[in-house]
Amino acid sequence: MITVKNHDEIAIMRKAGRIVGETLLLLEKEVKPGVITASLDRIAEEFITKHGAKPSFKGLYGFPSSLCISVNEQVIHGFPGEYVLKEGDIVSIDCGAFFDGFHGDAARTFSVGEVSVEAQRLIDITRESFFQGIKFAKQGNKLTDISHEIQSYVEAAGFSVVRDFVGHGIGRKVHEDPNVPNFGKSGRGPKLLEGMVLAIEPMVNAGTYKVKTLKDGWTVVTADTSLSAHYENTVAILSDGPEILTLIK
Ligand code: MG
Ligand code: MG
Repeated sequence: MITVKNHDEIAIMRKAGRIVGETLLLLEKEVKPGVITASLDRIAEEFITKHGAKPSFKGLYGFPSSLCISVNEQVIHGFPGEYVLKEGDIVSIDCGAFFDGFHGDAARTFSVGEVSVEAQRLIDITRESFFQGIKFAKQGNKLTDISHEIQSYVEAAGFSVVRDFVGHGIGRKVHEDPNVPNFGKSGRGPKLLEGMVLAIEPMVNAGTYKVKTLKDGWTVVTADTSLSAHYENTVAILSDGPEILTLIK
């Protein structure tokens, strides 16, 4: 069931989203060669807690950390640990915060020092595909109008979109209906209504769209070990268009 949020609920989600957006801005400054991914997790958890929120992911389905940190060929659900970031890596950080009964959810892929031209292009196309997609996040449109636009944009750039994992509705739970795929024909799925809040999150691979899960039970990697990037924001559908709740300008 898709829950539609009222004005007051969206106001709270704006606050939850702001905490997520600020956490990611803080992390962007911390990402550099020599940094252990566990330290990024600590920084995020402290920041989120200091702002009266809780990390959404810690304990969610048993996930061990506050952030998902996925490096290079890792797509999503990597967990922070002793890995030391090195020059040329790309690192996807997915962050959620629970504030006053509601969640915010967003992800970015950052470059670590100087990265290859192709890696930077992957990051840029992934981010841009989100912005192309949300042009269609308007009341009256169909959900997969967003999906189709993201896929078209990504594939025109020569990359592929992950099929096995998708975006989602968000609110009192991190994962609510509907699923928000980053691929498919337009004009399908539910009609978008004012008050729907969606986590729209293209996951884009440099090679095949196929992925697999490592033996740790969590970390999703590209099947061909090509690089992968992720860009996500929590987006509210309002009467005058989409509002991005997790992006601080
Ligand atoms: Mg996320
Ligand atoms: Mg999400």
